[in-house]
Amino acid sequence: MYDVAVAGVGIAGAFTLRTLSKKLRVAGIDKREKLGYPVECGELVPTKEEMKSLLPDLEDYSIFDIPEKYVSNKTSRFEFVVPNGKSVEVEFDMLVINRDRFISEVAEKSGHEIRKRTKILGYDPENHSLKLRDLNRMEDYSLKAKVLVASDGANSRIAKTLGVWKYEIASAKQYVMEGVECEEDTVYMYVGSKIAPGGYAWIIPKGKGVANVGVGIRQSFLTKGDSIHRVLDRFVKEYPYSSKYLKRAKVTGKIGAVAPVDKPLDRTVFDRVMLVGDSASMILSHVAAGIPVSMVAGDIAGRVINGYFNGEMELEEYERIWREKLFSTMMRSYRIKQLWDKISGTDERLCRYFRFIGKKDMADILRSRIPVKLRLAEPLIPVMNKIF
Ligand SMILES: Cc1cc2nc3c(=O)[nH]c(=O)nc-3n(C[C@H](O)[C@H](O)[C@H](O)COP(=O)(O)OP(=O)(O)OC[C@H]3O[C@@H](n4cnc5c(N)ncnc54)[C@H](O)[C@@H]3O)c2cc1C
Repeated sequence: MYDVAVAGVGIAGAFTLRTLSKKLRVAGIDKREKLGYPVECGELVPTKEEMKSLLPDLEDYSIFDIPEKYVSNKTSRFEFVVPNGKSVEVEFDMLVINRDRFISEVAEKSGHEIRKRTKILGYDPENHSLKLRDLNRMEDYSLKAKVLVASDGANSRIAKTLGVWKYEIASAKQYVMEGVECEEDTVYMYVGSKIAPGGYAWIIPKGKGVANVGVGIRQSFLTKGDSIHRVLDRFVKEYPYSSKYLKRAKVTGKIGAVAPVDKPLDRTVFDRVMLVGDSASMILSHVAAGIPVSMVAGDIAGRVINGYFNGEMELEEYERIWREKLFSTMMRSYRIKQLWDKISGTDERLCRYFRFIGKKDMADILRSRIPVKLRLAEPLIPVMNKIF
């Protein structure tokens, strides 16, 4: 019997392992051969200074001292582009990380046992046992643990078993491209119904002409007959405001993935199971950014479990602490997503609204703050939508 099973070693799992006491018998479990690889992510993380305004309820920001060896590029601004080509530039300091190396080294450095190429098939809450498959030998077996950390991402088997996998999900497709000719200190974000139905498209420069180029969409916003593959191809080859940077670029990697774009779950501790990261829909849903909150939530889960085994804490404390530190930012982000949906019904309408949305408003939105203007205008949106 293990003390703790960390089911899924992505960002949340790696940061849980990092904090869990060496005195505990721990098993990290992941289906991948190389942790974090392939990279199913834009790899963009705000700098520690930016985190202070993005997650204002934390006391300690040292978790965001990301060592230089994991940083492939530093950017200092966002360029946000609407369908008529109008753009707003916002100063914002971000790191583009090598997320696979970051996850892998944080997890391995924890010193805990990690079973790779091991698929989670299910969870039996009565026996506190995980049903696993060794993908090398194709053999199924069970692993028992006193505490289970469900950090198995947006498609969480464990959230499904518990019946809480009900959050809204966005689909994403991303290329890694070489020979990209954009400004390397700028992250480009594009919105519009043809270029990113229900989401946004991005060019995130990793340095030396390499960039993550992708699109995140919501299926219900997709026109009949269209597909995410066509959307990304249009973005890369046809859309004038993005293709100008990608004309001579080559695709060197491709991924498809999903992310929650919802509020966090109402409950994240079920007896001795704790949900952490995407599995609990812990995300800044208006931009589908989950790295920072997953790092913090993983660390909190690790601390609470250590306290539990020392007899100093109940596992429910996890629920209270992560809500105190992360909930208000995630809920502001969710509110922004809701407001955005109200004003972006058509490209024409979005562009009209955009005449009133300036640099300061976009700076607020990107930092998960609701612009005063938008908050005041909210009751008038139904009337304005008729005019616009
Ligand atoms: C295309 C895309 C781009 C994104 N870009 C950004 C970005 O730039 N910045 C940002 O902050 N956020 C971004 N996100 C969101 C971010 O990647 C996630 O919020 C974050 O990775 C959540 O971490 P996690 O540990 O909860 O899940 P994950 O990192 O997904 O980790 C889950 C782990 O569980 C494992 N696993 C899952 N199922 C099983 C199973 N059945 N058996 C065994 N192992 C399993 C997986 O292999 C994986 O290692 C992006 C998401 C997508 C899809």
